[in-house]
Amino acid sequence: KRKLRLILGDQLNLNHSWFNESNQNILYVLMELGQETSYVRHHIQKVVGFFLAMRNFADELQKQGYQVLYLGLDSKSNTQSLTDNLSLIIENNDIEHFEYQLPDEYRLDQQLKEFCSSLNISFSSHDTEHFITSRNFLADFFRNKKTYLMETFYREMRKQNDVLMDDGEPLTGKWNFDQENRNKFKDPLLLKSPKTFPKDASSIVAQLRKMGIETIGEINEKDFGWPVSRAESLAVLDHFCSELLPYFGEYQDAMYSDDVFLFHSRLSFSLNTKMISPLEVVQKVESYWESQQEKISIAQVEGFIRQIIGWREYMRGVYWAKMPEYGMMNFFGHDRKLPGFYWTGETKMNCMKHSIDQSLKVAYAHHIQRLMVTGNFALLAGIHPDEVDDWYLGIYIDAIQWVEMPNARGMSQFADGGIVGTKPYVSSANYIDKMSDYCKSCHYDNKEKVGAKACPFNSLYWHFYNRNEEKLSKNPRIGMVYRTWEKMKNKSEILEQAEEYLGNIEKL
Ligand code: FAD
Ligand code: SF4
Repeated sequence: KRKLRLILGDQLNLNHSWFNESNQNILYVLMELGQETSYVRHHIQKVVGFFLAMRNFADELQKQGYQVLYLGLDSKSNTQSLTDNLSLIIENNDIEHFEYQLPDEYRLDQQLKEFCSSLNISFSSHDTEHFITSRNFLADFFRNKKTYLMETFYREMRKQNDVLMDDGEPLTGKWNFDQENRNKFKDPLLLKSPKTFPKDASSIVAQLRKMGIETIGEINEKDFGWPVSRAESLAVLDHFCSELLPYFGEYQDAMYSDDVFLFHSRLSFSLNTKMISPLEVVQKVESYWESQQEKISIAQVEGFIRQIIGWREYMRGVYWAKMPEYGMMNFFGHDRKLPGFYWTGETKMNCMKHSIDQSLKVAYAHHIQRLMVTGNFALLAGIHPDEVDDWYLGIYIDAIQWVEMPNARGMSQFADGGIVGTKPYVSSANYIDKMSDYCKSCHYDNKEKVGAKACPFNSLYWHFYNRNEEKLSKNPRIGMVYRTWEKMKNKSEILEQAEEYLGNIEKL
């Protein structure tokens, strides 16, 4: 039978069992689609990154002797719609059987299911062979539970995959070193340059412009540095182990004005496009650490492994357990529009300026910038979760809905009412000052709650708790906050200050 196999832009897994057989009756298809560039406005580096990675992947398959049909964005036969293209290819190539790998995104999953139900040839869907758990593992694991505790899931992952374990027990007797991973960064001499692969992206950028694809953010066309092949992704992983792992855990929450990446791995794009797999990353990191135990403490390594086999798998499980309802959740009923400075970085709030500017420049911000700066502000200010989701989905090179949405709508906006987090991640300037050097050169005063120079995070923090008292005061992890608020003397001044800031939000 002549088969067609579809490979989506985030399914670039060269180790997939599909590639164990070489059969000239199988046609592989990859497509650059207008449909995928327009459901939200993406960062230019994200579009370029995906298309370059897809082109490399198709080249690699061709080199290995597979039959590949690559529909470029401006190819004449590209209708720009996934399913219209598939119908034409099936017809024009006498295809008798259609196969696809399960999409990670709900929207595409639905689209392909509908498409298949209208087909008059046979079809089958296949696992992507990327994740450690199956789509529904988490839903089954937490069946009948209201909250899904990440730590419980993470320990199960460690046991099942025998990662950092010793005879069924966590290595060194401790599961979690989070308390040791909260240091401020102060020593620029420790900084390393990121591993980049400068390449000329000007022709692809010109193509996007010619096709009228609307994007956000900046790109240095002559010097695009993100990894866009498996070999480059593996080199980033090697660089992470030898240069960054020794400091990863310790500084994973730190923010520093003069450096964007600090000791973060920059592996999310490679992982999310499946150029490398989570288990191979974790195994490589664990074995590297085993060979360097006298130099690297377990806290650095555990902090990293938790992100991958814990948070990443967990977020995917939550997505599949709760979609499509998850995408509509808005626990606090927030309805404000995202201020314009999220798209320009033009704000006097130094922490926001840094986090947004760098996101526009390099399509990247690390976890704490996303959670405790831009996400924190959006939650305190009461921005509609749809607006927040669209921003995170567009601006980061690694943003794909299955991982973006539980992080943004769930973890950062608490719009799910506490499925992902047990309480909202909000803070006043205090936390930002503790973890960064932003406050010392800010227009605002991080110590003040009221007055012309008072840091907006301070009054908005109390405004948030005050306006949501009914929804939050019974949460046992929050009671203390309300007891402090009760005792505060200048409550009305603080609330007035917050109202003033909210009324002039575009000018902050
Ligand atoms: P490192 O800090 O080096 O961490 C290693 C890896 O762990 C990452 O590559 C990533 O695969 C994984 N990881 C770490 N934290 C998380 C997490 N919370 N959820 C899932 N995986 C995690 N990550 C995305 O991949 N895509 C997104 O669209 C995305 N949106 C986010 C939105 C918000 C509001 C927040 C708070 C976090 C979001 N994250 C997202 C998680 C995290 O910020 C990024 O994975 C990380 O910053 C990527 O950089 P890195 O590869 O250098 O990560
Ligand atoms: Fe951000 Fe406030 Fe600190 Fe300025 S003072 S950097 S606005 S937390």
